[in-house]
Amino acid sequence: MPISVTPIDSLDDHTNDIRLRTARFVNEEILPRENELFPRRRGVEITDDLRDQAKIAREEIKAMVKLAGLWAPHLPQEYGGMGLDFLPHAYMNEIMAYALGAAPLFGVVAPNSGNQKILVKYGTEEQKQKWLLPLIEGTMESGFSMTEPDSAGSDPRAIKTTARHDGDEWVINGHKWFTSNGKDADFFIVMCRAEDPTGEQGRSGSMVQIIVPTSTPGVDVVRGIGIWGRETSDHCEVVYDDVRVPLENALGRVGQGHEAAQERLGAGRIYHCMNSVGQMWRAFDLMIERTLTREVHGGLLRDKQFIQGFISDSYIDIQTSRMMTIKAAEKVDRGDTDARTDISALKIYVPAAYARVVDRAIQVWGAAGVSNDLPLGQMYLGARTLRLADGPDEVHRILIAKNVLRSYEQGHSWDFAN
Ligand SMILES: Cc1cc2nc3c(=O)[nH]c(=O)nc-3n(C[C@H](O)[C@H](O)[C@H](O)COP(=O)(O)OP(=O)(O)OC[C@H]3O[C@@H](n4cnc5c(N)ncnc54)[C@H](O)[C@@H]3O)c2cc1C
Repeated sequence: MPISVTPIDSLDDHTNDIRLRTARFVNEEILPRENELFPRRRGVEITDDLRDQAKIAREEIKAMVKLAGLWAPHLPQEYGGMGLDFLPHAYMNEIMAYALGAAPLFGVVAPNSGNQKILVKYGTEEQKQKWLLPLIEGTMESGFSMTEPDSAGSDPRAIKTTARHDGDEWVINGHKWFTSNGKDADFFIVMCRAEDPTGEQGRSGSMVQIIVPTSTPGVDVVRGIGIWGRETSDHCEVVYDDVRVPLENALGRVGQGHEAAQERLGAGRIYHCMNSVGQMWRAFDLMIERTLTREVHGGLLRDKQFIQGFISDSYIDIQTSRMMTIKAAEKVDRGDTDARTDISALKIYVPAAYARVVDRAIQVWGAAGVSNDLPLGQMYLGARTLRLADGPDEVHRILIAKNVLRSYEQGHSWDFAN
């Protein structure tokens, strides 16, 4: 079923144009070729031939996306992207994400896209030439290496990986895991604690992100961590043992590492949630399609009140998620500092709503719902994972309460209308 998109009166022409063109592209070029582009949906053994055909098909689509002017919404125009603000980008994401797995066909692929944004903002001209441009051209891959097995990822300032000055080099020692894209990456952006001989810096005062080529002696990609019952994945465990890189590989200055990571994750949360909205929309359409045609116990599913309850609860989940995400994107675009609170709220609400919608769609489809013939199983695991990645729910709950209480303590009640 194609995604149904019409102009939104309150939006400017540019954003509506992007929405409509993205929808046309998804409906005409991607959805009809989904099984070719993502062969594991076919329900047959995936041969090298099928894999090669899929790769060629994906390259074809990417070339068409570029011609259509829909490539890299997150990048400034000077780097070949669309230069979109948060809001139009969010509107584009929900449509792209309707075709599960299609974002890379539009040049948006984590963690490369997050790294590109950080390099655009904090990179020196030399770093941009050496790392950003190849990343954009697709001749290099990258990872973001922050989470550690031996310290709480939910408290990024607790990081133990150290970076020490020695002459004109950094010497990095530490142990990371869940570094996504770890197997293919040519370089990692590694979050470190710069050793401070005076011991005077605060907990986040010594954080620094350092670019580390994966070929540097001492970088050991130990394994791809198996997740959700799979033997392996590209989320990797990485040991850094006396890894030496030039001082100029620091991205921004010492002390900016925490701010840069938060900026990256803040943006990422809005994009991930708008992707989730697009995927809920797809799951919803699939659920309705089945209810209109499947007969059980002498009637169509659509006539059963249990199922009507699934439809209306899912409708509410999607509408609420969408409104929360769009409101947060609007706040970010106008530089409202309260946006952090809204981002945390949607980061808790949307993945949970996404899981509920997909869960109902799976139930309606019966056994087919968990098969690879449909994208629902993959969505379900993605929704659950999102409750951990980019900050677990509990951390976001604490942040919301802190910000709200501070506001009241300073004599302002919360302005929900803003
Ligand atoms: C698929 C996937 C991909 C990922 N990709 C990357 C990547 O590319 N790069 C990277 O660096 N990391 C990545 N991560 C790691 C992710 O960012 C971390 O898992 C996340 O930040 C949580 O950290 P943690 O796993 O160490 O959990 P912990 O910090 O140990 O937290 C465990 C649990 O404790 C609870 N908790 C935490 N704080 C509080 C509190 N104050 N009060 C009450 N309860 C609390 C929460 O329930 C939380 O889930 C990825 C994770 C996954 C699952």
